[in-house]
Amino acid sequence: MRRGAPQVEAVAADGRLTLGGSATIPTVGHLTFALAKARAPQSNPRMAFADFPAQQQAVTLLQRSLARGRLAHAYLFTGDDLDELEGMARTLAKTLNCQSPGLGAASDSCDRCLTCQKIEHLNHSDVQWIRPEMKSRQISVDQIRELIHAVNLKPTEAQWKVVVVVAADRLNTQAANAFLKTLEEPPSRSILILLTAEPQQLLETILSRCLRLNFAGGGAGKKFTPEQVQWLREFGLQLTEPKPSLLGRYRVLGQLLARLAELKDTIKETLTERSPLQRYTDVDPKLAEKWEEELDAAIEAEYRRQRAELLLALQWWLRDVWLQKLGADAELVAFPELAYAVEAVSARITNAEALDNLRVVEQTQRLLRTNVQEALALEVGLLKLRL
Ligand SMILES: [Zn+2]
Repeated sequence: MRRGAPQVEAVAADGRLTLGGSATIPTVGHLTFALAKARAPQSNPRMAFADFPAQQQAVTLLQRSLARGRLAHAYLFTGDDLDELEGMARTLAKTLNCQSPGLGAASDSCDRCLTCQKIEHLNHSDVQWIRPEMKSRQISVDQIRELIHAVNLKPTEAQWKVVVVVAADRLNTQAANAFLKTLEEPPSRSILILLTAEPQQLLETILSRCLRLNFAGGGAGKKFTPEQVQWLREFGLQLTEPKPSLLGRYRVLGQLLARLAELKDTIKETLTERSPLQRYTDVDPKLAEKWEEELDAAIEAEYRRQRAELLLALQWWLRDVWLQKLGADAELVAFPELAYAVEAVSARITNAEALDNLRVVEQTQRLLRTNVQEALALEVGLLKLRL
């Protein structure tokens, strides 16, 4: 047990706990959270819904559907952290099948009974997990056929059959097509949960058959580097000026391009230093050529990754603008320190424009993943931003 973690002294009939040295905490949700933190070491914490305080919005939605017995038959859980999404899927599977639900909490798992434990340790026969194959990093049509077969068998020990598809963006086209009919109409008492950190990669046919729940919410959901925040600060400062003209927007774009060029230079420098080309000067030209090719590929891959991260930071900042338009809770904001620019921009655009901005960045990211020329993709994409 962590030092300083509250010690449970008593559990009342209504589920209230008395903690050592402090007053009774009334809400069961918080309690289970405190308990979970106290009993679980950092590795592989077991989880109930109450263990996801940063995801309260989406969790509340799920719990409401559970309480009314009105779950969708297919969910798409999206968010930045695939591990967290897996935790969420496990928790939903537990809650559906728990033998002693919730210690008085509405619609939560006990996280302790045999069923909950089996599900937590991924060895419950009615809760199946599909993941991309190691080699191809894709989910194949054979895997989907197996899934369909499994989901059509009667549950052996549980109330509900649950199938979780991890990284559903890795479904190849054939697999996705084979999946459609089951996704549309799974057998009764079964539920399909698709997880992805990259929903924009999913086929429209899959997207439209799932109820989408986003778990990205809450500033805690995504961590940004100090450099990214600093860049956003500079970006935001330009936007506090009166409404940027087209020229102004090109200036904003120019600032982004300059930052990307910086990133590329740093990556080139770092990776070149690490390359064997630097250490061995007298090598077979064929080998040297191979190393050069590998180096180029590594630089390109790392640059693409960092570029996507930077645009993601921008997208999160634009989400703050959108939340401001909606008058949402300040707790949901990702960059509280950049509020001045958020206010300036949200004062001069409409709700619809704020939402469009999010789509524009998403589309730009998608375009950049194709082989279109980078400068062009950024220009056609980002000049559409309403700032
Ligand atoms: Zn249980």
